[in-house]
Amino acid sequence: MNLLSGKGGCRLGSHRVIEPAGALPQSAWSLDPSPAAYPNEIVCDVEALNIDSASFRQIVEANGHDRERVIAHIAALVLERGKHHNPVTGSGGMFIGRVREIGSDLRDRVSVREGDRIASLVSLTMTPLRLDRIEEVDLETGRVWVRGSAVLFGPGGYTKLPDDIADQVALAVLDVAGAPAQVRRLAEPGATVAVFGADGKSGLLACAQARGRVGAEGRVVGIAPRDDTPGARLLRDEGYVDAFLAADARNAADVATALPGILPALADLTVNCVNVGGTELSSILATREGGTVYFFSMCTSFTAAALGAEGLCKDVTMIVGNGYATGHAATALQTLRDHPALHRYFVERYGARS
Ligand code: NAP
Repeated sequence: MNLLSGKGGCRLGSHRVIEPAGALPQSAWSLDPSPAAYPNEIVCDVEALNIDSASFRQIVEANGHDRERVIAHIAALVLERGKHHNPVTGSGGMFIGRVREIGSDLRDRVSVREGDRIASLVSLTMTPLRLDRIEEVDLETGRVWVRGSAVLFGPGGYTKLPDDIADQVALAVLDVAGAPAQVRRLAEPGATVAVFGADGKSGLLACAQARGRVGAEGRVVGIAPRDDTPGARLLRDEGYVDAFLAADARNAADVATALPGILPALADLTVNCVNVGGTELSSILATREGGTVYFFSMCTSFTAAALGAEGLCKDVTMIVGNGYATGHAATALQTLRDHPALHRYFVERYGARS
């Protein structure tokens, strides 16, 4: 079957690309977000966006932490590109909303119906998006409440919102679902796992998942700038980490100095969940010869990682943080259910509308 043709429009969404010709939605500069479903599409009413942390941080800093300017920035970005695709960080986020229209080719092939509430599982960088109104933005969490519409291609790319987890919490967790799912795959019983950005959304889920995977014989170490944040306290109080290092991961020299104290034999697996750039070297330094670095962070530079490892003569496997893994949404939500304290933390921080 040709992926790029078909009466219902391209399965991969090329029929929505405005420019440049030949691009697919993720790599395109701009998309047509008009809210009428082609036969292979699902059109949704959008209620909230979870802007990718690296992207949101960049937007907030570029606008001097001014709420009105942030709102204007997001509105202009989506109007220009027909999607929320930050050209500086290259990253997007996810949305939650309600199914408005299911294309004729999909009606018998999908498990959702008009009116169902869903969360998208594909990046906003490839999701045609129209914003009629931005109602509120939370500068702390990257949550943006909107009225608008979005288009999903083909039968996948979303999950129904669960009944037992608050919508806003599910949105926060599903945005970073790839992290706990990959940790579940990569962390072996008895292994040592280091998590950079441990007190953020993906970091917390990664630590909790790692704790369960490595077991009593293994070791989990969390690293983040401060040890007095609610997330850092949770990690220690719940025993998700055996040790916590307060460090700026951009400062590789400081991290290297601290490593013998917290990771004497270095990590078998290092997971980078940081939302700033320049942390590749610290992650590589923390990993043992022959170990694995999983770069979940959207701030990761391929060049810095590749040349950094080469410069350190470090033979490590480095994995690009694919946001998708089979069953990742279910794994991420189950991580919350398995860890009630973590669930409570997410409810307190992400569950309420500000
Ligand atoms: P988050 O909740 O904002 O957490 C970011 C973490 O990075 C926090 O623990 C933060 O610590 C820490 N951090 C910031 N500066 C640091 C530094 N200099 N040294 C060490 N730690 C530092 O972010 P998230 O939503 O979990 O996302 C984490 C990363 O994954 C982001 O880069 C995001 O873009 C990316 N992401 C990737 C995918 C994918 O598909 N691969 C999907 C979604 C998100 P403080 O809290 O103390 O500032």
